[in-house]
Amino acid sequence: MTQPHSPLPPLAALTSPLLSWNDAAPHSEAFDDVYFSREDGRAETEHVFVAANHLPERFAAWQQRRAFVIGETGFGTGLNMLCAWASFAKHAPANARLHLLSTEKFPLDRVSLARALSAWPTLSTYAQVLCDQWPEAVSGIHRLHLSERVTLDLHFGDTAERLAQLDGQVDAWFLDGFAPSKNPDMWQPALFEAMAARSRPGATFATFTCAGIVKRGLKAAGFTWQKVPGFGRKREMLAGHITTPPSDTRRHATPWFTPPPSLNNKHVAVIGAGIAGASVAAALAKRGIQVSVIEREAPGAGGSGNRQGALYVKLAAETNHQSRFYLAGLMYSQRWLSQLATETPLWQPCGVVQLALSDKEARRQQRFVAHHPLPEAVVSAQTATLSELAGVPIEASHGLFYPQAGWVRPKALCDALLAHPAISVCQGEVTQLHREEQSWQLDLANGGAVSADQVVIANAQLANQFAQTDELPLQQVRGQVSEVTLPDGLQAPQRVVCAGGYVSPPVDGVLTFGASFVPNNATNHVTTEDHQRNIDELRQALPDWVAALENAGVVLEAKTLAGRAAVRAASPDKSPYAGPVPVAQAWREAYRALSKDASKVPDTIGEHYPGLWISTAHGSRGLSSAPLCAEVIASRICDDPLPLERPLVDHLHPGRRIISAIIRGENS
Ligand code: SAM
Repeated sequence: MTQPHSPLPPLAALTSPLLSWNDAAPHSEAFDDVYFSREDGRAETEHVFVAANHLPERFAAWQQRRAFVIGETGFGTGLNMLCAWASFAKHAPANARLHLLSTEKFPLDRVSLARALSAWPTLSTYAQVLCDQWPEAVSGIHRLHLSERVTLDLHFGDTAERLAQLDGQVDAWFLDGFAPSKNPDMWQPALFEAMAARSRPGATFATFTCAGIVKRGLKAAGFTWQKVPGFGRKREMLAGHITTPPSDTRRHATPWFTPPPSLNNKHVAVIGAGIAGASVAAALAKRGIQVSVIEREAPGAGGSGNRQGALYVKLAAETNHQSRFYLAGLMYSQRWLSQLATETPLWQPCGVVQLALSDKEARRQQRFVAHHPLPEAVVSAQTATLSELAGVPIEASHGLFYPQAGWVRPKALCDALLAHPAISVCQGEVTQLHREEQSWQLDLANGGAVSADQVVIANAQLANQFAQTDELPLQQVRGQVSEVTLPDGLQAPQRVVCAGGYVSPPVDGVLTFGASFVPNNATNHVTTEDHQRNIDELRQALPDWVAALENAGVVLEAKTLAGRAAVRAASPDKSPYAGPVPVAQAWREAYRALSKDASKVPDTIGEHYPGLWISTAHGSRGLSSAPLCAEVIASRICDDPLPLERPLVDHLHPGRRIISAIIRGENS
């Protein structure tokens, strides 16, 4: 029996709720209900959610390497989650990790959030971290790293819809949300069924209500409940646990994407120290894993070694999984970069202006904005505004503005990510990988070897050089940036401006622009031909400003420019590969029947090389894609909930093309 996958809910901006205030206590006008008790909200949370789920005792006894996971319905002001975090900080062993996930359909704006949380001075440090990272009001999953040990995934959208997309399992549920009588739409069977389907064996729940609809819904979904004393004037509330957990993580309609079982993960080797490898190494190290990074040249020696790299994406006019992933990646990278505390800033969130140089492109952009009004992430702009934003004259009639994007120092970023005490970087070229009993052996060209429990292959265009990955289609793409020194005082872009290529605000008087994009070319010497392409693109994007540069004596000649070229990897469908490495031949045999009838899905789970992962094909947008892909892989290795919805996790799967080839009858 195959079950249809719940479709991904549409990408949308969410509206913040209309509130009235009783000092710092918010009241929802739409639901006519309070966010927390006016008597003592914090004591209520401690009683109803923290104590009734036995969290202090469970935290104190937590010895597992995976994170303890709390799921909540209705994030509201975040009070419950902050109390859970504070309890964890007080009771859990020093190496334990906590993963919080919470749904919210009507997220508060940042100012209201800060106001509501100001009621709890003893939580102010936690509240500050939350407010600093508070994400855009855009539907989807927003991952926040609250501390080295605590992660929060905000699942913005309707609770039942969001939980149906959750790729992960929960240990304790906070069943919150306005009272069932005030919010009957939320307390539906689909909610309880989704909770049950995402519960670990033994998962507990607690809720403030005793309503019949809740008792019946929980029971029907496989939970047992007891009435326990409620808080304050409420006589009773419910607490209980799952008795018949489905705990089935299989992808029934797409069994090939079923995640492989968790394995020993004390020591992971990462091949490649560009942005893909460095971000995966940092994501693993943060989770207490020892990481050995093996790099044949030096960190950032390849495509991640430029002086500046633009953090931007190009989104399809109509929503598709690729755009959804890239937008999620962009928003994640923006938040993640803002948090990396380093002496020299690793990035400038100056904003990105994306110009439409043709009517067709302008129509495409307008279609995108019409379909997806996401004012906090991307807005439409016209000539005058574009010029004002960019700080240089713009002729294009239309464009998009990404207010929180910007440019990054990729090489410095790689170095900063690798400077974690749990990461060791060694220079060497991995030639082969073998699976020994329970571990992997990596042979090095110099005759040495490294052994590790698991391996992440993240060496860009060379990622398919191993016997296990040699069928992975990867295209080599040459990219060259050009650099020119500007005289002091000359007007220059104050945002990243992109059209075909991009130009960043100058750094130390040097303007970087490009990059060329030459498919099927694996050379990395600087050429005048590529400089000329970059000059042509720059002239096309900013003709008046280039004329002003030349009038001021700047020589834009291919022969005289400085620059840097590197090879990047792309997949045929232009989405990255991030996930477990499939055993291609086994997939072809197991799923052969799909070539005759694609609707006859066999029951067989896809075979993967145990503990072998890949993150590659980030093309020229690795700054937007690689950090989120690193979280996807590290979350899977550590059995944490994933930071993307299931269909998007599957969209990145390195085996996706094997299945489409079988269905098209290209079975070899
Ligand atoms: N847990 C919160 C706290 O710690 O502040 C209080 C939650 S408040 C009582 C209920 C929350 O549920 C509100 O933020 C509301 O917007 C949200 N909500 C209501 N219906 C929802 C739905 N169908 N899906 C997701 N969130 C919903």
